[in-house]
Amino acid sequence: MDVKERIAKLVKDLNQYSEEYYIKDNPSISDVEYDSLLRELENLEKQYPEYILPDSPTKRVGDNVKEGKFAKVVYEKPMLSLANAFNEREIREFDNRIIKAGFTPSYFCELKIDGIASSAQYKNGLLIRGATRGDGYIGEDITANMKTIKNLPQKLKQNLDIEVRGEVYMGKEVFQELNDERQASGEEPFKNPRNAAGGSLRQLDSKITAQRRLDIFNYTIVDAYKYGIRSQSEALSFLQELGFVINSHYQYCHNIDEVIAYLNHWKIERKKLTYETDGVVIKVNDFAMQEEIGYTIKSPKWAIAYKFPAEEVETKLLDIIFTIGRTGNITPNAVLEPIMIAGSLVQRATLNNEDFVRERDIRIGDYVVVRKAGDIIPEVVKVNLDRRTADLVPFKMIEDCPICHQKLVREENEAVHYCRNEQCEGRTIASLIYFASKTAMNIEGLGEKLVEDLYNRGYIKKITDIYRLENYYDDLVKMEGLGEKSVTALLTAIRDSKNNSLDKVITALGIRFVGTKVAKILATNFTSLTELMNSSYEQFMAIKDIGPAIATSIVKYFTLNKGLVQELQQLGINPSMEKKEKENLLFAGMSIVLTGKLESLSRDEASKIIEDLGGIPTSSVSKKTAFVIVGSDAGSKKEKAESLGIKMISEEEFLKIIKR
Ligand code: NAD
Repeated sequence: MDVKERIAKLVKDLNQYSEEYYIKDNPSISDVEYDSLLRELENLEKQYPEYILPDSPTKRVGDNVKEGKFAKVVYEKPMLSLANAFNEREIREFDNRIIKAGFTPSYFCELKIDGIASSAQYKNGLLIRGATRGDGYIGEDITANMKTIKNLPQKLKQNLDIEVRGEVYMGKEVFQELNDERQASGEEPFKNPRNAAGGSLRQLDSKITAQRRLDIFNYTIVDAYKYGIRSQSEALSFLQELGFVINSHYQYCHNIDEVIAYLNHWKIERKKLTYETDGVVIKVNDFAMQEEIGYTIKSPKWAIAYKFPAEEVETKLLDIIFTIGRTGNITPNAVLEPIMIAGSLVQRATLNNEDFVRERDIRIGDYVVVRKAGDIIPEVVKVNLDRRTADLVPFKMIEDCPICHQKLVREENEAVHYCRNEQCEGRTIASLIYFASKTAMNIEGLGEKLVEDLYNRGYIKKITDIYRLENYYDDLVKMEGLGEKSVTALLTAIRDSKNNSLDKVITALGIRFVGTKVAKILATNFTSLTELMNSSYEQFMAIKDIGPAIATSIVKYFTLNKGLVQELQQLGINPSMEKKEKENLLFAGMSIVLTGKLESLSRDEASKIIEDLGGIPTSSVSKKTAFVIVGSDAGSKKEKAESLGIKMISEEEFLKIIKR
């Protein structure tokens, strides 16, 4: 391929990746891969300017706004992107360029929040418009959605006309909860908090956005000079005065050495933060100097984004195996030569689906680059082709279910293969594993391997059999890996699980589209399994937050499984609570937030106490929070509670209250 063709290919591919990333919130390659392709294009364009194409991504911010979904917003002052630096050398080159141009800069460093750039426009102190960045010149009007962001003020402390820009993001905990919920209800999880934030912010129904609990950090005032502000450090103080939330981990740096010390500090420390950061933004502090230094078409020349190195490693792909979920979804998984990534040992990584493997041409025996996406889920990024040997064969997706051998189905426009056999043992085992899991009945000791083992030996074929295991005590203690002590502990855990709350039991049933959150909603609207089972489609539809798909799925489940649920009830799994009783509980209906580390309780234990007393353990602080329990090393939630004037109590006080 000659240079011209290579440039054309890079432009075409990068434009496709941008659309997937910015518009669909579903990238098919990692940021690291994207950044290195973009770098290659930048270098080629520098050497061969005659081949630069008009639609090159090096000449554009983000992606063009597509017609239709949202109204367009035209920016008077464009929302630009930032040039990137990937190492210390590039940071020093940035500093040298500014010094060579005759300036003596001091810098202002801020964490680069991995979210979605947004603009908020206020008139007379009132929020009148919220918009995305779009291509920097034309964005999308998402006012209704922006209004659901709890820490974005609707009314400022001064009656000003002002435009403020910032980063909308989803906290790590909220992201984890959302993905657990999506997985539990059979939906595809989001790849990382940034995509989840993007997807949530660009919803047509702002009620969905509201449920996603987004947050914002603000950092830019448009035309700041109008308010007498002369530097980035002054801008942040003024934003706070107006009632905006800013990220408190900024630092004023006298020179580039101080900047580098700041980067090195946050390269490590960022892992402790409750939100994702992908780098540090370094800005010349003085606004007059910024204007003199100027802009390119795409980004300011007075700022640069240092990108943290992603935690990626190379290892050998030993095998590709297929797992089946309880909805019949088949997932290819990489079996890896074990390797440490970001501090934990990784032996498996998801390969998502057939297209994912084919597009990357991943073959058994390859050396693959693996990373923890969003520092959470390990995934295979790409193959190192330099290490490929000639004998490796291309991947072929299986056609039959690995468990029941029925033909798999892949619907049009879907990437996932499904086994549609309701009786498939793989699906049954997956539902049993889910039933016992922490999210559901939380039966300690009944993990994946044991469930499979007990299933294969015929002891548990359906969920109710778990509660009959005590009849086989003598057989169980003879099983390999089990002894009297562990069997007794297991049977106790099984018995204890009968006391689980109604929402836990509903979750455990594994009804399609009913994850932990919907289960909680159902448990507040119905007092028992019997009442739930005897309710109609219309009764479910009457509940806020329940739509036709969920209602149909619940009705279908109980039509098919009435006998099974009644059996569960006869075995003593029959949680019920009078509505009146619920109202009388100590924390009835209160949203309670936990932050920092507690000495005498684990987070799960504290959450359970709150739930048992009628409260709702919540991961983010808002005006609706009843109070915050503050442990040691508390972070941003404490600050937020302070800024909103929410009551805070210590662990000791909490323990006293619950003993009353
Ligand atoms: P960017 O994310 O590199 O930097 C600019 C953005 O940083 C600003 O628009 C702003 O939203 C944000 N930001 C966060 N904290 C900030 C702060 N304190 N001060 C100022 N700005 C702050 O640029 P971009 O144009 O949004 O995106 C380019 C990046 O997106 C690429 O480097 C790549 O990593 C990723 N990308 C990935 C894919 C993919 O397919 N994986 C596709 C396109 C883009």
